[in-house]
Amino acid sequence: SIPATVAADLLVPLADGRVTDYANFDHGASAPCLESVRAAVEAALPSYASVHRGNGYASRITTQWYERARSEVHTFVGARSTDQVIFTRQTTDALNLLARAVPADATVIVFESEHHAALLPWPAERTVRLAAPTSQTAAVTAVADALRTAPEGPRLVVVTGASNVTGEIFPIAEIAAVAKAHGARVCLDAAQLAPHRPVNIEELDVDWVALSGHKLYAPYGAGALIGRADWLNGADPYLYGGGATAAVTPETTIWNEGPPRHEGGSPNVIGAIALAAACAAISKHREAIEQHERSLLARLRTGLAQISGVTTYSIFGAEADRVGTVCFTVEGVSSTVVSAALSAEYGIGVRDGKFCAHPLVGHLLAESPEHGTAVRASLGLGTSREHVDRLVTAVRTLATTGPASEYVESAHGCQP
Ligand code: PMP
Repeated sequence: SIPATVAADLLVPLADGRVTDYANFDHGASAPCLESVRAAVEAALPSYASVHRGNGYASRITTQWYERARSEVHTFVGARSTDQVIFTRQTTDALNLLARAVPADATVIVFESEHHAALLPWPAERTVRLAAPTSQTAAVTAVADALRTAPEGPRLVVVTGASNVTGEIFPIAEIAAVAKAHGARVCLDAAQLAPHRPVNIEELDVDWVALSGHKLYAPYGAGALIGRADWLNGADPYLYGGGATAAVTPETTIWNEGPPRHEGGSPNVIGAIALAAACAAISKHREAIEQHERSLLARLRTGLAQISGVTTYSIFGAEADRVGTVCFTVEGVSSTVVSAALSAEYGIGVRDGKFCAHPLVGHLLAESPEHGTAVRASLGLGTSREHVDRLVTAVRTLATTGPASEYVESAHGCQP
């Protein structure tokens, strides 16, 4: 069976005074904490002490927890023995860290369809942006073409595992194979893929993986960059300070190598413990998670496909493999109003906007000029069949009769 999420029994008040259980369709943004993660955090809270800094019993135990968490994350992504795990705040932090370590003469190749966290950190003058692909084959060909014409020197291809907008899974192994054939390295943004499908650095033959704990059913504040050490050991420390240094004299500073180089300051031990506990639980229940999500996603997609006035969006086409995310619009109802009505009238949480992937949403909605934004429903462990049926019924009602109340556009203050 699948471990329960802590928030699975959250009750929410509806506009008509009823109370219902919360149907969370926003796992793609952040996923609620697992019971096993909460247990791991609760066990650590009463007795943690400084990490890699003290020789007291509690310090030594806490240092062991922290390093065990590092090794759990290493195992979770099937990293090579030479790969290092650097704890970061989240995926954004991990990708920005790698961007600081990219050699000065490197070319970076990235699709415009990426989340802004993977699209923006790279040095603009040395980055080649590829248009959002329209098929899996076109994605691989575009990378090959870009590499063929890239200047001499190191190259880095940045690719997402699964789109945060449509859930579609990119042809990672194929892109990595093309990259390797051209001597390029690959960074996989696994923020959306890792919670739902196995990620194996060695099998995919990628060089770095970035992920976020809060999308993996752990609380906020911990993520990781896992992969090759050489570029990172050659870069200036991400944060200057204690921990990053091997020796400091009045004249010189010698920086550490390995993870400590980029983990300056006292680390987020509890975050690392939570992330590792989530990785362990997810690995243990991989098959059940995938089965659960695949069946709910099929039900959701079939239900939405039968509603006239609902358009769903796709990068590669309807047949592409995807995690449990659907991006859609409703004719005659703005996406803000759809999400507001789903929340107030049905107790359903979705996200509307451009999902921090403005170029991709612009590309997907080009054929729907009446919509500047879309709705994203992303399911996960806490999602039930009843939630899916409630969402489909609610969207059908919105598409046929509109919302029951009036909602103020853009009143929710969400990020676009
Ligand atoms: N990449 C993708 C594909 C994402 O979906 C997200 C989060 N929406 C990020 C990167 C950034 O993750 P975080 O906000 O945890 O840094």
